[in-house]
Amino acid sequence: MKIIRSPAAMTGWSERLRREGVTIGFVPTMGALHEGHRSLIREARLQCDALVVSIFVNPTQFGPREDLTKYPRPISHDRAICRQEGVDVCFEPTVETMYPTGFQTTVTVPAVARRWEGEARPHHFAGVATVVTKLFGMVRPHRALFGQKDFQQSVLVQQLVKDLNLGVDIAVRPTVREQDGLAMSSRNVYLSQDERGRAVVLYKGLQAGAKVIRTGETDARIIQSAMAQVILQESTITTDYLAVCDPRTLEPVSSVTSRVVLLGAVRVGSVRLIDNLLVNTPRRAS
Ligand code: AMP
Repeated sequence: MKIIRSPAAMTGWSERLRREGVTIGFVPTMGALHEGHRSLIREARLQCDALVVSIFVNPTQFGPREDLTKYPRPISHDRAICRQEGVDVCFEPTVETMYPTGFQTTVTVPAVARRWEGEARPHHFAGVATVVTKLFGMVRPHRALFGQKDFQQSVLVQQLVKDLNLGVDIAVRPTVREQDGLAMSSRNVYLSQDERGRAVVLYKGLQAGAKVIRTGETDARIIQSAMAQVILQESTITTDYLAVCDPRTLEPVSSVTSRVVLLGAVRVGSVRLIDNLLVNTPRRAS
């Protein structure tokens, strides 16, 4: 496996392979790789001839009071996972090469970024949209894989690629969960043992919402309250938002008439967790 740090070397490697007709797959990450990342890497390995994984903790997507400095950076462990999974290039750009002196462009996707994570983390999605655009420019992949775990991010990336004609095929893969259902996340390491045990309540809340939809409930307020009731059982966990949304626009719906996404964010101690479930409406007898 090649480790490339310079953007120019990365682009050179990709351009050579593209000229030979090789299909390049790409999995962008911030490292601290876990089974969720691994599933994206495995799928990309199956779908593409050559595979690039980037590891870059992007400072511009962190807020001033967020965890940028303490974000886990176990680079040897990450490279070992990439090697195990047959990754061809581990691309590890530095902050200085990503944002050299004089850098000034920002990419924004205003409507998709407006609510939910965008509201809780005001500059987050501009940081994500800008770094993804830059990484696509550097890596020049044919296909890039993202996790459903970050649902709003996956919608944003699809919109960005369409609007800017970036010519990258985007695939979104299901959320990988721990045995009890907690969505895997690099931030789960911040949870104490006790918090870890209670954190699963977010997933349980979303499941409760999905269950009432499957029984035929269409009123979003009732669905939302079913989710909230489950989360309220853990008095130490505070809810940031619980929403019933259109999965394409991320706008909240008042009545469930077709597929919806249930979005949730909670705080467990000082750790903020997000999760989501896509739910189909039950078939009605005609
Ligand atoms: P991150 O390193 O957190 O920026 O995530 C890199 C990619 O992995 C993103 O596309 C995430 O959505 C995806 N990802 C993170 N956690 C999971 C998970 N539990 N299951 C599937 N994909 C995930």
